[in-house]
Order: sequence, then structure tokens, then C-alpha cells
Amino acid sequence: MPSWIGQAAHRGILTSRYPRAPATEAEVPMTARAPGPPAAGPLPAAAISVCPVGAIGERAVDQGRCIRCARCLAHGLQPVGPVELTVARAEALVAPPGARDPPAPAPPLASLGRSIHVFLVDVGSCNACNLEVLGIANPLYDAARLGIFFTNSPRHADVLLVVGVPTEEMVEPLRRAYEAMPAPKSVIAIGACPISGGAFRGNPGLRPSLDGLVPVDRFVPGCPPAPIQILDALLTVSGRNRREG
Ligand code: SF4
Ligand code: SF4
Repeated sequence: MPSWIGQAAHRGILTSRYPRAPATEAEVPMTARAPGPPAAGPLPAAAISVCPVGAIGERAVDQGRCIRCARCLAHGLQPVGPVELTVARAEALVAPPGARDPPAPAPPLASLGRSIHVFLVDVGSCNACNLEVLGIANPLYDAARLGIFFTNSPRHADVLLVVGVPTEEMVEPLRRAYEAMPAPKSVIAIGACPISGGAFRGNPGLRPSLDGLVPVDRFVPGCPPAPIQILDALLTVSGRNRREG
């Protein structure tokens, strides 16, 4: 026991200081960083042609569609980081680097000002996003310190986290989970799959996004996103994000 105490004293506190302090470089890894142009101007045609998901347009990279494969980095683009950790509108993900998400209406849960319970639905993921969602509960992020808890029932949930590209088989279970949640409630789309279909876009038996299935309050780009982005989205929809004032 004494050696444990000594080690802890030596290491100090490892838990993230977010949101009391901004996210650190280490907390926003490569999978959370979309590529962008080093300078203003048209994007290189070579980069546009190598992108496997058509995320690169002539003027901007669609961060909601980008799967962070890094192919375009050899053709003039560079990792520039997310537009924002999370955004309220998917359109804001197709914006030049450094652009800000325009102000959004107050989130539905903002008036509660209390802890929130979170229900996760996987509508067709590769499991990587699931691991990042679970990461918010580990000691590095410690979502419980912020009053964020997982629940096994949508009837007890304030926030629905959706991971994966919507498969036809999961459309109805997703709707039922959303309808079972008491109001007020929020939905967060985690990763490229529920935002744009990600790497699986266009495959048979898949919906291209959550559009028309459930109303999404917060979009978390990445493939997979980092836990710090998921925390940002949860704090934002519950009206407790320092950035949101
Ligand atoms: S999907 Fe790959 S090639 Fe396309 S923009 Fe993203 S990192 Fe670049
Ligand atoms: S967004 Fe990427 S990491 Fe997440 S489920 Fe889809 S393919 Fe997997």
C-alpha cells in the first residue's frame, strides 16, 4: 500500500482537466484530426482523386465524411485538427479550417442543470467507436466526475449516443429506443458512420446517415472520434460546457 501511495504522489493527477482547461494536443489524436489545406485556395486535384470516400471538394474537406485514412496527406493536405471538437449542424463540418460553428439554439437538456444518464445504441459499427465511448468512463476522462453516467435502459436515459452506420435492421430498434426516452432528451451522432455513412456509404442495406431517423443535436466527427470529443458533446447538450458559456 505505501508504494502505491508513493507512486500516485510521484505521478500526480492524470485525469483530464477538460472542460476546466482546453483539450490538450494529446487528447485530440490523429483520428480526430481531419486534413486540410496548408493555405487558402483550391484543394489539390491529386488529393481529391485519392480520397476513398469523396470527402474532398474543391474548396473544403467534409469532416463528417472523412474517415481519417491519411491518403491525402501525401498529396498536399495536412492534419489541421477538427473545425470544432463537435458541432450542432452537419453542414458546419464542411467548412474551411478555423471556421467556427455558428451559435445554435439552447440544447433541450440545458434547463435541467444536473447529472445526465446516457444510453448507447450501435446501429452498425466496426466497434472502434464503442471503445472510444467506453473510454470516457476510464480514469483518464472520468465522466462520473462530471455527472455523466451510463444506463442500460432508454427509459432512464437523457441522452442517446448513436454509433455506426444505420443498417435497415436497426432502424426500428433505434426509433423505439428514442421514443422510450423521457423528454427532454438529446441525440448525439458519434463518428463518420452515423453522420455520413463513413467508409460504408452507398452499400446496400444501409441508410446514408441518421437523417429522417432521429433528430440529432450534436455531431462528433472522427473515425473514431476521441473520448474528449464525446465528453464535449455530452457537456454541450446538457448545457454545461464552459465553451458554450
Ligand atoms: S478520407 Fe482519407 S483521403 Fe479522404 S479527406 Fe479523409 S484522410 Fe483525406
Ligand atoms: S466511424 Fe469509423 S470507427 Fe466509428 S464505427 Fe464507423 S468505421 Fe468504425
